[in-house]
Amino acid sequence: MTADQKLVLLTYADAARTAHDALTTLDQHSGDGDFGDNLLDGLDRVRAALDTHPSEPAFHLAATVFLDEVGGTSGPLIGLLLQEIARGLAAHTDDREGWRAGVSEGLAAIQRVGEAEPGDRTMVDALAPARDAFEAGASFGAVADAALTGARNTADLRARRGRASYVGDRALGAPDPGAMGVALLFWSLAHVAGQ
Ligand code: ADP
Ligand code: MG
Ligand code: MG
Repeated sequence: MTADQKLVLLTYADAARTAHDALTTLDQHSGDGDFGDNLLDGLDRVRAALDTHPSEPAFHLAATVFLDEVGGTSGPLIGLLLQEIARGLAAHTDDREGWRAGVSEGLAAIQRVGEAEPGDRTMVDALAPARDAFEAGASFGAVADAALTGARNTADLRARRGRASYVGDRALGAPDPGAMGVALLFWSLAHVAGQ
């Protein structure tokens, strides 16, 4: 099971472009409407950086872009996730093991910084099921399904973290944009890996 790192990121950038308007609508519903812009801007910058630095490890490059250049609450948090995935992939010859370790450490880093628990209606609600699926030995496709289900289920959650916590019940009925945006990463991985 191997997935070309660069191709995963380019597929994620394509997916973010396709989902941009829907992610914007979701963040208008529960936040300030910039999540689609933040994610797409970040991934477009990653695409450019991959072109300029073709021999750098792709996820390391992507992490640097998100940590240094991408705005919103989500920019640095996704940067932490990408950074741990880069570390995981560098530390393990087995691709799946690298992803398992990276997602587990990435989730931990996001929770250390953002202090969100599962059920708080954040990207943690996509990442925790993905982490659990990896730990249970699931395929990339099953991990992607778990992340997407977790993200969809945030529609029933009242936010306790981030900007959405200011709008109370108004956010109910539509999923958290950050959770959907992170689920797209796992969809991209499964798509590239073909499973
Ligand atoms: P902002 O609210 O600053 O405009 P974005 O729109 O870029 O930030 O990102 C919003 C997303 O960030 C939310 O949908 C949520 O998934 C995620 N988020 C917000 N706060 C936290 C947190 N404390 N922990 C994890 N994720 C968070
Ligand atoms: Mg926002
Ligand atoms: Mg904002």
